[in-house]
Order: sequence, then C-alpha cells, then structure tokens
Amino acid sequence: MHESVADLREYKSGTIREKDGLLRCEYLDQAKFYSYLIVDTFQVETVNASIESLSGDRCEEQISLEHARRFGAAVEMSLTEFNRENEKCETWEVLATPNRDACTFCLGRPVCRPFKKSQDQLGLEGEQYVLEGNLLGLEKTKLGTVAAVKDVYRKKRSELLIPEEVSQELTSDNAYMFMNLRRQGQMLSWGNTSRVLRCD
Ligand code: SF4
Repeated sequence: MHESVADLREYKSGTIREKDGLLRCEYLDQAKFYSYLIVDTFQVETVNASIESLSGDRCEEQISLEHARRFGAAVEMSLTEFNRENEKCETWEVLATPNRDACTFCLGRPVCRPFKKSQDQLGLEGEQYVLEGNLLGLEKTKLGTVAAVKDVYRKKRSELLIPEEVSQELTSDNAYMFMNLRRQGQMLSWGNTSRVLRCD
C-alpha cells in the first residue's frame, strides 16, 4: 500500500483469459472480493489489481472504493440468501450446482451426489471422474485390464481401464468407489492421482 492506493497481485497456474480474450470472470470476482477485504480493513481509496499467469500473461483492473464496497454488499446478499435456502432445505446437496470450473478443483467430488450425477456433462478434462458401484468382473483386453462396474450414478455398466496391480486387490461383487479417473473415449481410465475405496 502507498498512501490511499493498494497494489494487489494474484498469481494463477493456468490460463487467466476467457476464449474472447477477457479476464476470466471468476478471477475478476476474486480480485473484487480481495479488494473489498482491503478497503474494509485499511484506509484505501483504490486497489490496482494485477492477475498474472505463470506463462507471463497479465490482466490489470483498477477497483475503486465504491466498486469494492458494492461487490462486498452483493456477496453479503448472496450469503444471506444461501443461509436462508440452507435453513429450508433438508440436505446440503440441493445447494450444489456442479460446473466445470468449481468441480475441477473441489475435493468434495467423491461425496457430492449432484456432481456424480452430472459429471459427464461438465466437460472435465483431467483426473476428476468418479465411478461407483459393484464390480461385475475383470477382463484382460489388448488395451490392458478392464474392470466392469455396475455404475450407480450412470445407471449402466461402465468400464475402467485399470493397472494390473490395482485389479489384483479387487474382488467381484464388492462395492467400490474409484475416484480421480480420466475419460478415455467411452471408457474411464486410471490416472496418476486415481484411488479406489471399498464402499460397502
Ligand atoms: S463437487 Fe459438488 S460441492 Fe464440489 S464444487 Fe462441484 S457441485 Fe460444488
């Protein structure tokens, strides 16, 4: 901070722009929220925010005191609304609204039913898929070992390409949750961060 101006820097590991070249809207919201916290805590009139990616790209936004306060008030309204809905609903899961950006980094995926039901429509690109159900059997194919699972959420038989050493730990008819999987065409496949849990 210098006099009534604060400089804010936010670093991102991935791309910071939408397809149209503008700053991704969730990053802009994040900068506005940080600005609100700054103006609410310090005697600051303006926040100069710089959002930078590891590749060297950078977007700059100047956020005024009034703008930051307006954003803070909007967040407060959203939280009030969330809490009001939360009091009315019987389970938290009705408040979950799966979308690619949020779910990609959420550790709650394996226990989030709305995510598990809609995961195939989200356009996920990494190791985020979950497969849950009873193991129907294991089959050696030319691609490797394939586990066939009676998929609870997709309501069908799903196939997972799985390392041989992992398949040796599995028993037919037992219920499992496979998490952090990749999509490989019609099939799911094991990735670097994949895990399997018994879920009887
Ligand atoms: S996995 Fe569920 S809780 Fe996590 S971001 Fe997605 S919808 Fe929200």
